[in-house]
Amino acid sequence: MIPAAFEYYRPQDMAGVLAILEEHGDDARVMAGGHSLIPMMKLRMAEVPHLIDLQDVGGLSDITVEASRIVIGAMVTQADIIDSAELTAAAPILREAALQIADPQVRYMGTVGGNVANGDPGNDMPGLMQCLDATFTLVGSDGERDVPARDFYEAAYMTARDDEEVLTAVSIPLPSGGYAYEKQKRKIGDYATAAASVQITQSGGTCTSAAIAMTNLSDTPIFSEAAGAALVGTALDDAAIKSSVAAMLNDIDPTEDNRGPIAFKKHVAGVILRRAIERAWSRA
Ligand code: FAD
Repeated sequence: MIPAAFEYYRPQDMAGVLAILEEHGDDARVMAGGHSLIPMMKLRMAEVPHLIDLQDVGGLSDITVEASRIVIGAMVTQADIIDSAELTAAAPILREAALQIADPQVRYMGTVGGNVANGDPGNDMPGLMQCLDATFTLVGSDGERDVPARDFYEAAYMTARDDEEVLTAVSIPLPSGGYAYEKQKRKIGDYATAAASVQITQSGGTCTSAAIAMTNLSDTPIFSEAAGAALVGTALDDAAIKSSVAAMLNDIDPTEDNRGPIAFKKHVAGVILRRAIERAWSRA
């Protein structure tokens, strides 16, 4: 498969990127790791007459752990996340999730920015970032703005990002308590049939907060506020977990595809969420 012809640009700074985006509008797109965009171009599902490679733009590949938050540059790869001991100490759920994305070859190229900006409901990081209450920083010719991950996803491949904006960083409040990223897939390297991100805190055996997000069970990631609320104030007994799962099932809207019929996906979602809650609780 060969993509349609395109002009290739490799600007050295963000001003250069924004100038090309402004000049060509919808006809231009940035490329990060290229592991979602290039396959789509080859399949002719995306036509990109002007392709802007972000590899040479400085300042997008840092991981910074601050006193109260983590900042991850858009060009940080999934492999960088796995390799960063400092990041793993601060937010171990990031490594647990990154290890379940695709395979090592993809993880060496695929970036955090590309994964969250793409808007693919199958991508693992959007739900993870909603669970962690992350904020995405976008830059365009009108300046910079921040959008919460929980408000970013509008429909499959549709996000709050304007075509002329570039996502530069993801900021995450320092998480605390127990965590789990649980993913069911058909085989190694596959996208999720269902995945759950859970972050839980407790005090004296009672749950004090719970954030839950689900992946590939709707045309956007689903942050289920009700599923988290069902756990708060409980000792995470069986009844509380059942209520949480029921609340999550009420929030998702899976469709039938080659990963299974709707009833199967809902069943898997329930199993996955229960496992994630129990593992997160054991670590809280
Ligand atoms: P690109 O492909 O370069 O870009 C993707 C899209 O995002 C494009 O539209 C591009 O214009 C846009 N974009 C990229 N960076 C920015 C930015 N900074 N600002 C604004 N827009 C931007 N992913 C998973 O999450 N889970 C999986 O299990 C999984 N399995 C995979 C298996 C295979 C075989 C392959 C090839 C990919 C798989 N992926 C999976 C996708 C992989 O993780 C991608 O690399 C990732 O989703 C996109 O990151 P990228 O850096 O390659 O982005």
